[in-house]
Amino acid sequence: AKNCGKNNAKLYSSSLTMQIMSHVKLEVGLRKALQNNELYLLYQPQIDVSSAQVVGVEALVRWRHPERGIISPTEFIPLAEETGLIVPIGEWVLRTACRQAMAWQAAGKQPVRVAVNLSAKQFKDENLTQIVLSTLHDTGLPAELLELELTEGTLMDDARATMVTLEQLRGIGVYLSIDDFGTGYSSMNYLKRFDVRALKIDKSFISGLPQDSENAAITRAIIAMAHGLKMAVVAEGVETGAQLLLLEQFGCDLAQGYYLGHPSPPESIDLMLGNQFTI
Ligand code: C2E
Ligand code: CA
Ligand code: CA
Ligand code: CA
Repeated sequence: AKNCGKNNAKLYSSSLTMQIMSHVKLEVGLRKALQNNELYLLYQPQIDVSSAQVVGVEALVRWRHPERGIISPTEFIPLAEETGLIVPIGEWVLRTACRQAMAWQAAGKQPVRVAVNLSAKQFKDENLTQIVLSTLHDTGLPAELLELELTEGTLMDDARATMVTLEQLRGIGVYLSIDDFGTGYSSMNYLKRFDVRALKIDKSFISGLPQDSENAAITRAIIAMAHGLKMAVVAEGVETGAQLLLLEQFGCDLAQGYYLGHPSPPESIDLMLGNQFTI
């Protein structure tokens, strides 16, 4: 039994070494990904539930790895956060998304807001406001067409610093929203004080609808609360017509999910703009 434990320890340490090595390899690759043009953005439509028009898109980053193929952001964004690479990557995402939204704007399409995910590290970066300002200036995108998505975790981390940064961003006129709402731990007290425009109900609440009566109750309550606070509500992860119908009955403002459109290259969004969805 003793021997066996030793072997296990050895096995464990060698697989740990391998894990660390592949982690380091991925990190080295990620450092080069930006300059090698391996990152790209997909855009997922956000539909106004009552008018059935595309009113916004969320930018979602992908990494085309030369050997491994397409890597999901759930794999490399945490690594980018750990290593600080999220700051230059995030800046690239912001710039690319704003440029794309401006291109849609210039092509005479209806105004479409572009939502960009901000990670906690980016939100804490003291240059954030300056980066947002200069990106809007350089691309010419009106501030109200840029939406920044923040998670509850990011906002609750340091409430005082959060207030200052939110105030600055609000001053610029960008649209702020709370992502994955309901999965974190925002206190209702802070929700009242954070001046954000919208809540995005996390897809874990939407996925069981319409059958799951508990999630239905939670979803309806979030919508009522948000409207009471004069915030808009976006439902994420809408995968069926029945879900959309229920959300419409609940008075949900916007919906996003595979039922309405997968994350897609800009050309596919071009085709959707100006087109009414049949829902
Ligand atoms: P998120 O911000 O919550 O983005 C929504 C995720 O749900 C996306 O996954 C999207 O593809 C997926 N999704 C959309 N509709 C449906 C649906 O109907 N059903 C289901 N099951 N999923 C749906 P994705 O693109 O893999 O992104 C995962 C996460 O990675 C994002 O979650 C976000 O936290 C992060 N992320 C993506 N792009 C960026 C970025 O540019 N910057 C930062 N900081 N994070 C990013
Ligand atoms: Ca998001
Ligand atoms: Ca989300
Ligand atoms: Ca999420």
